[in-house]
Parts: sequence; C-alpha cells; structure tokens
Amino acid sequence: MTRLFQTLIVFTFFASSILSQQNDINRYVSVTFDDLPMNTKYFEDGNQWIEQTQKLLNTIKTYNIPAIGFVNEYKLYVNDVLDSTRLKALQLWVDADLELGNHTFSHPDYHNTENEEFFADIIKGEKITKELLSQKNKKLEFFRHPYLHTGNSLEKKKALEDFLKEHNYTIAPVSIDNGEWIYARAYENAYNKNDLELMKQIGSEYVSYMIDKTIYFENQSVKLFGREIKQILLVHANMINADYFNELAEELLKRNYAFISLKEALTDTAYKTEDTFIGRGGISWLHRWSYTRKVDKNFYAGEPEVPKSILDIAEVESE
Ligand SMILES: [Zn+2]
Repeated sequence: MTRLFQTLIVFTFFASSILSQQNDINRYVSVTFDDLPMNTKYFEDGNQWIEQTQKLLNTIKTYNIPAIGFVNEYKLYVNDVLDSTRLKALQLWVDADLELGNHTFSHPDYHNTENEEFFADIIKGEKITKELLSQKNKKLEFFRHPYLHTGNSLEKKKALEDFLKEHNYTIAPVSIDNGEWIYARAYENAYNKNDLELMKQIGSEYVSYMIDKTIYFENQSVKLFGREIKQILLVHANMINADYFNELAEELLKRNYAFISLKEALTDTAYKTEDTFIGRGGISWLHRWSYTRKVDKNFYAGEPEVPKSILDIAEVESE
C-alpha cells in the first residue's frame, strides 16, 4: 500500500466519522439566558460579573451556541448611577456577537402590576440594550416575560400581546422550563460558605436534573404534537452556568441536539399553537398549549422536581 493510499483511507475514515456525527443530529434547542448581565444574590462587584460572564461566554463560544441574553437594565445601575463595570459585562455579550432581548427594566411581575406601569417598564428597559445592539447593526427584537407571567386574565394577556406587537417585539416562549434558578441559589449559598465539595455536588446534580427535565419535555412534545419540536431552553446568566453549562452542553450533544438561534426555533409551526393559558404559574409553553387544548390531567404526570435537599440549601420553600 502506498503512503498516499494509506493517507487517503485514514482521511476518508476521519471525514466519514465527522459526517456520521452530523447525521446523528435529530434534536434542536435554542438556549436563552435571562436576567443579564448577571443573576446573583451575593456578587455586587461588577468585576466579578465580568469574570463570571467571561467563563459563561467561553462555554457558549466553545460549543458554538447562538444564544440570546435577556436584559434587565436596572442591574446596570448602582445607587441610580450607571456602573461602567457592570455595563462592560453586558458589552461582552455584544462583543461575542450574541443576541440580546428585553426582559423589562426592573423585572416586575405583570400579574401584580398595572398595565401602563408594566408597559412603561418595557420601554425603559430597551434604552441601553438598543444602543449596544446598534454597534453590530442589530435590532432589539425579542421580549421575555419576567417569571414567564403573560397575564392572569384574557384581557390582560391580550393587552400585553397588543402592546408588544405595536412595538415590534416577538415574544420569546420557553418550552423547557425548569427549576434551574433554585440550583443556582443553592450553588451561590454553598459558594458563600466556601463549601467546594457541596458546590461540586450541586453542580453535578444540576446537570442531571436538567437532562431529566429535557427528556420530560421531549416526551411532552411527542404526546402533544406527535414529534419533538424545536425546543427553547430557559436558564439564567449566573454562577452555576458559568461553571457547569459546559457539562450540560456536552450532555445535550450526547442526546443529538444541535444548538440553534431563537429565531430558528420559532420557525417551528408548534409556536403558532393557540395559547389561552391564564393561570398564575410561569410554565412551559408546551403546557400552556395543552391547557388550551384541555388535555387530560394525567398528561402532566412525571415532571422531575427539584429535590428537598436542594430546596433546603437554596433556602427556597417550593418550586
Ligand atoms: Zn427573569
């Protein structure tokens, strides 16, 4: 066998193994991060925000995730003064060529807020984000509801939908809703006690919980649509993801997921399904659609829950 021939065989084998990896992709997920620049209970210092953001963006870059971050601009201010260090943390997302969306200025709960007040908070929350996006000739396009609260009456829901439409916003739904924020709280509490062992334990439990939740919503999708829709995952810009999103991304790849943009996920016709859900909870759109269709109660069975041990460390009473 000639050297060239050997090289050719090796090359062909290598190329086909890459191809077969690509062929294995049969699931799609858009990853959305809320509460930018940083959701944290303990970190006040913008330099820590920059450090955490850099870690998270490294993962996003490594796994080539076309992520979007939803901003609460109130977090950019310290005592009513714009904090240049916190602003820098947000700038890093733009520098990484990622999308940003509006998550309101101050994260109010629509269900407890007068419509006009809530709408004003949306407008207030777009100022800096619009400026940052314009650096990359991008437009502010997406809106994510705080607590996923979309309105607790049909009138209120419709009023917000109309407002968003008038202001050219596209609603960013969530299909894989989860208790990630509780793990995040527990993780920060462990960090605050300098308990590295506990942090590790929470981190690895977090990754397997998130995969269980993902599998649950894959199945819910099949039950509702007869197929797996393009999923939209909600997580937050926080410390646990700075440290563990790489492991989660790895596990998602093992389940043959490809990471797609929010815009691409929304091309799935499932997202045009009627939604008249007006319950109090901030739940997955898969469940809003199933409530709208009035499916049997058994449909919801088997949803993975955050274990008591994690709730306790997080000092959270329930999901
Ligand atoms: Zn939020």
